Amino acid sequence: MIQPKGLIPKITRYSSQHPLGYRIMLYVCSFSFLFILFSTALQLTLDYRREFRAIDQQVQLIRSSYLASLAKSLWDVDHAQIALQLKGIHNLPDVSYLVLKNTDTGESISEGEAELLSDSPLQTQSFDLIHRTPEQQRKLGQLEVSFDLRAVYQGIWSRGFSILLTQTLLVILIVLVILIIFHRQITRHLEAMANYSRDIGAGQLEHSLTLDRQPPSSSDELDQLVTALNEMRQSIRQEIDHREQEQRELRYNRDQLQTMVERRTASLLQAKEAAEEASNAKSRFLSTMSHEIRTPMNGMLGMIQLLESSALNPSQQQHIQVLYDATNALLETFNNILEYGRLVEGAYSISPSRFSLKHLLHNLTALLTPEADRKQLNLQLKYCHEIAEQFYTEESSLRQIITNLLSNAIKFTDQGDVILSAELVSQDADQQRIKFSIRDSGIGIEPELQQHIFDRFTQADETITRRFGGTGLGLAICKELAEHLGGEIGVSSNVGTGSTFWFELDLPIATPTTSAAITQPVWQDNSGLHILLVEDVHINQQVVLGLLADTPHQVTIVSDGIKALELGRSQHFDLILMDMHLPGLSGLEVSGRLNNDPDCINYHTRIIALTASVRPEDIHRYLEAGISSVIAKPVRKKQLLDAISGGQQITVAPTPTETQPLLDQAVIQVHQQMLGPEKLATLMQGYCKVHCDLWPTLQQSLQAVDDYEISQQAHKLAGACDTIGFTHASHLLRQLEELAENGEIAPPLFLETLQQVMADTLELAQQWKA
Ligand code: ADP
Repeated sequence: MIQPKGLIPKITRYSSQHPLGYRIMLYVCSFSFLFILFSTALQLTLDYRREFRAIDQQVQLIRSSYLASLAKSLWDVDHAQIALQLKGIHNLPDVSYLVLKNTDTGESISEGEAELLSDSPLQTQSFDLIHRTPEQQRKLGQLEVSFDLRAVYQGIWSRGFSILLTQTLLVILIVLVILIIFHRQITRHLEAMANYSRDIGAGQLEHSLTLDRQPPSSSDELDQLVTALNEMRQSIRQEIDHREQEQRELRYNRDQLQTMVERRTASLLQAKEAAEEASNAKSRFLSTMSHEIRTPMNGMLGMIQLLESSALNPSQQQHIQVLYDATNALLETFNNILEYGRLVEGAYSISPSRFSLKHLLHNLTALLTPEADRKQLNLQLKYCHEIAEQFYTEESSLRQIITNLLSNAIKFTDQGDVILSAELVSQDADQQRIKFSIRDSGIGIEPELQQHIFDRFTQADETITRRFGGTGLGLAICKELAEHLGGEIGVSSNVGTGSTFWFELDLPIATPTTSAAITQPVWQDNSGLHILLVEDVHINQQVVLGLLADTPHQVTIVSDGIKALELGRSQHFDLILMDMHLPGLSGLEVSGRLNNDPDCINYHTRIIALTASVRPEDIHRYLEAGISSVIAKPVRKKQLLDAISGGQQITVAPTPTETQPLLDQAVIQVHQQMLGPEKLATLMQGYCKVHCDLWPTLQQSLQAVDDYEISQQAHKLAGACDTIGFTHASHLLRQLEELAENGEIAPPLFLETLQQVMADTLELAQQWKA
């Protein structure tokens, strides 16, 4: 930087660099000048007075020494003497001009040059010249003496000027010396301290402050300041060290916590896997049970249907009807127990149908009458005749609730009555509120137990359990079912006098158009087909043969998978009915092999699965193996003939291409055939709910980049999509799940597609629901 030259710029620079020094300089200068002015003025006043005192002394001298002799010379008229005396006075230091006036003659004698004094300041003094004798005194004349003041003034001024000059120079010198001392002693140290403080502020805490000076003998204010600054630096340093220590500890704790979370997550994952394994085992158990129980019941139902079409007398016909109803009821009870399992898992859905309530209650009473008779109980039905003829709701649930309550009533009553009554509580145009009561005169229930009686596995005390047996699940099922139907259930009871179980619900009245499907023609007969039936259980073979007996189809039977494969490779069939549960080679495997071999003679033959395992994931596997339709066991004639005639409606899932379909047509058609449109709508409704629950959470997890949660939510949502057949969504979600499991972040384009597909899927589900 170029430093400006000259005094003013230097002062300006000094004032900005050392404002304190500059201010002190200003103060010292101004006070000193004031003082100089004052002292000079004083000095001059004193000088002035002294000068005038000198003039006064000369006046006194003239008066005492000259006046008498001058008066004598004038009396003697001695001119020479007078001139001499005047000269003597004129020689006095400040006298510049004299005039002697003779009073008698009027003449005047002067000494000095009057014109020279014309413009000078003068002080004139007059003296009377008096001649004294002892007798008299007489004025002879007058002497005027003029003193010239110019010299006096000049002397005073020049002294004043020289005083001012020397004093000023002195002051400037002193100010400079003070400034230098001040700078050396104070300001430069203050500046050093300011710089040091700035360094501390900038985080330079390594060095302590020492001033560049000779240490004074005893500590002064600057030393105290330096010590204070160093102590401040020290405590900041300590504070920072302390913070760093704390942060290290925090980091350590965080790491510990993270490891703990990871450990927990791992153990949770293990627990989750174990739970899933347990759940799978339960599902396997359920589907095995389902198969094991449904297979013989399938036989029983088939045989009953065969018996129905043989020649029977009216009473035998009636027995067969009761037998059929009982078997059906048993099957439905069993199904409902399976349903309870699903219901507890949250997978329950209602499939309403049209039925006669009166007929149902009569049947149920008739069914349980033999049991009541055995215990010599009077079982009665009281039916209010204002109740509508036909309703449209889940008949099997109603049946199950009433059967459970009636069975309990009979079970826990030793004598007296069991009365089933149905009353109309209220009604409007399309529904009636009906209260069902089952009253008995049995052992009754303790008040404390009444509160928990509808909980799972709740029974009365041990003696009762031992005497009557049971599982404690019946009432819990009743409660779940009643609540799913939108009703309420309750009990009132007195120990020893009996109990009344009741439930109340709104039942939709069936209009003639409700569930029109019931009255539709059930099947179209095809001209005789050659059908291969692959079924290992003899009774089931008989059932299918019986059901197809009055059709023109020709049936060939094989009873295991290996034989089926051999025959399927050597002989052409129009259709294959395949039991999935076969010894040796499973039905699924046989179907897969026949359908995947283009050289096979039955490559194009439709395969219909006969199976009790109809969970969505099973159906997926069947379709993957090339099976075109599925019939749930026990086989009903209508479904069988429908599948044989309408099988071509079912399209097999297309081989996956680059772009996945939103909805797998094959899966949805199987659902439609298996469940019917209403139940499918309920299924879709279920999906919409799951979607609305899980998808927002998944999106939040995506935003939070929480891999664990992403994989969890994606897994669940993918499962729900699989069940319905939302292939594209499921495919993307599985990809997302895999990415999250590997700790990778899904690319934005992928997320965009997922977003779109999920929205489309929900829209489609809502359309189906409607
Ligand atoms: P369980 O299979 O044991 O009968 P439930 O859930 O049907 O299971 O019934 C639970 C318990 O409630 C029974 O064990 C019995 O103690 C009591 N209970 C149910 N119904 C009656 C009734 N009508 N009278 C007296 N006790 C009853």
